[in-house]
Amino acid sequence: MTSSTCPVCKSLLLLPTPEPHTRERAVDCPRCGAYHATFEALSSLDELSNKHRTYRCVTSHAIRRRHNPDNPPFLVTTSWLASVWANENLPTPQEQADRFIEFLGAANRIPSEWVPCYPQRLGGILGTADDPTSQDIRGLT
Ligand SMILES: [Zn+2]
Repeated sequence: MTSSTCPVCKSLLLLPTPEPHTRERAVDCPRCGAYHATFEALSSLDELSNKHRTYRCVTSHAIRRRHNPDNPPFLVTTSWLASVWANENLPTPQEQADRFIEFLGAANRIPSEWVPCYPQRLGGILGTADDPTSQDIRGLT
């Protein structure tokens, strides 16, 4: 078994992760979703200091956007991380609002029903810059 926190956003994982027989680690994070990461990518993530918290949020959001239940979990590599860190930012408040509306619509509930919103998952979907280890979201930016 490996550590119980997400290497990207540092959220507590839902389940312990068994060590695979490859040079990859399978992660099931409440914020990022299920993904795999190469050992080299994990090393790059370990090198991020606390001052790079925004990088963690951007990376978490980028992983969450690649989630597709019909495909195997997304594989995080060092080249993909470098591309994300060089080219991607957190969404604007308007983009976050649009994604929130899409999220609510995708829940396919009748208008009077509540849509369950798990804060960490919502943070990954919307791309918020909140503390990924926090249990609550204080805003959309
Ligand atoms: Zn995560």
